[in-house]
Amino acid sequence: MSDPFIVNEFQEAILDTVRRFTEEVVVPVAADLDRNTDPEDSFSWDIVEKADAAGIRTMTLAEKWGGIGADSVTTGMVVEELAKGDIGVSVIMTQTLKIAQILQVALTQDQQERFIPGFRDDPRGLLAIGITEPETASNYFVPGDWSFTSKAEKTDGGWIVNGMKHFISNGNRACVYMLFVQTEKGKPLQEGSTCFIVKRDTPGFTIGRVHDKMGERLANNAELIFTDCFIPDEDVIGEPGKGFQVLVDFLPASNAYAAATVLGNAQTAYDRSVEWAKTRNQGGKLLIEHDGIRSQLAEMHMMIDVARTYIRKATWMADNRDSVAWDPALGALPKVYASQAAWQIATWASEIHGGSGFMKDIGMEKLMRDAAAFLHSDGVNRTLLLKAANSIFKD
Ligand SMILES: Cc1cc2nc3c(=O)[nH]c(=O)nc-3n(C[C@H](O)[C@H](O)[C@H](O)COP(=O)(O)OP(=O)(O)OC[C@H]3O[C@@H](n4cnc5c(N)ncnc54)[C@H](O)[C@@H]3O)c2cc1C
Repeated sequence: MSDPFIVNEFQEAILDTVRRFTEEVVVPVAADLDRNTDPEDSFSWDIVEKADAAGIRTMTLAEKWGGIGADSVTTGMVVEELAKGDIGVSVIMTQTLKIAQILQVALTQDQQERFIPGFRDDPRGLLAIGITEPETASNYFVPGDWSFTSKAEKTDGGWIVNGMKHFISNGNRACVYMLFVQTEKGKPLQEGSTCFIVKRDTPGFTIGRVHDKMGERLANNAELIFTDCFIPDEDVIGEPGKGFQVLVDFLPASNAYAAATVLGNAQTAYDRSVEWAKTRNQGGKLLIEHDGIRSQLAEMHMMIDVARTYIRKATWMADNRDSVAWDPALGALPKVYASQAAWQIATWASEIHGGSGFMKDIGMEKLMRDAAAFLHSDGVNRTLLLKAANSIFKD
């Protein structure tokens, strides 16, 4: 499918690089890494280092920081391309690329100078964002009288943080984290939480369990544990008590990036189904010649096209917020649509492969497990629909 949003040679060149990286580095090892039983063994530093060498890991850093300043539209294209090879690798990079974008606008000059070079210069430098905790999960998407359980208490020159976060992508692999905790008792988290920037080696900060996930296994997810962890005042992002505003102000394209990631998975499931239908002969003709299969493939094609168009709209609007009014529903809905479409496409793709679709060596079952990740991550879909409804019907 041609993409009318690829508007210049710069984007073409970036996407060529990412395509080559995906085909040469990710695809040959993804299925084997996925099969490892210990979740930590499914993660590969070799892939991260090669993504660094290809310029992918730091591509959203501005030129002055040594990157190429990839915008949201281009970043959405890149993470989709990565996910065509493996969704977990795309997640590792999506988290890193989007948080690098936030750091450059949300951090003060002093904070940028203290945190960005260390991340940039480490070929294994990854980033993570810690919001979700066991008892305060979907709650952060909908207004209400609830607070984070993780909290920070004021002390001389900084804050003492106690609590834990879970399900955090890159949790056990990152070097720098954005962390959201309650700093004002009795206030809802939207009004009483603060965003901190934290280095991995901060005393009092440890990694807990690495979660054993059903899919998206090449990315690790982990618990973050804070025990009397001192964070200095200089490492507050924005203002104390206004942590939530950091998410609202600086993360408009995050939902569309998640959508683009699951879309890459759907594209591969579709492409492989077309290939299969063109070579598998049953009922006296190729599957592609049966009207039921042809129309099913056309429907999959349509869903992919619609999801991609929605993502391009959201990322383009995120890039042009100065000139076009941002629609907050675009911060929730593209991932809902893309993940539902991707799940439908993955199950249909498996069905088109018949009995082979159920066999591990064909790879359809991995695509199904991987597609399922985005029904759950970046906000559960029903909660995101509620968040969108609250912005659409706010009057
Ligand atoms: C693979 C993966 C990666 C993730 N990565 C990160 C990360 O990097 N950082 C991070 O902070 N978090 C991350 N998360 C957390 C994720 O984004 C979800 O927000 C979180 O898992 C939802 O919380 P929960 O599982 O406790 O579900 P719950 O909040 O318990 O929700 C359970 C069900 O109830 C519904 N529900 C909840 N509240 C309401 C309501 N008010 N009205 C109607 N329905 C409601 C939900 O839609 C859901 O269907 C990740 C999760 C996964 C699975």
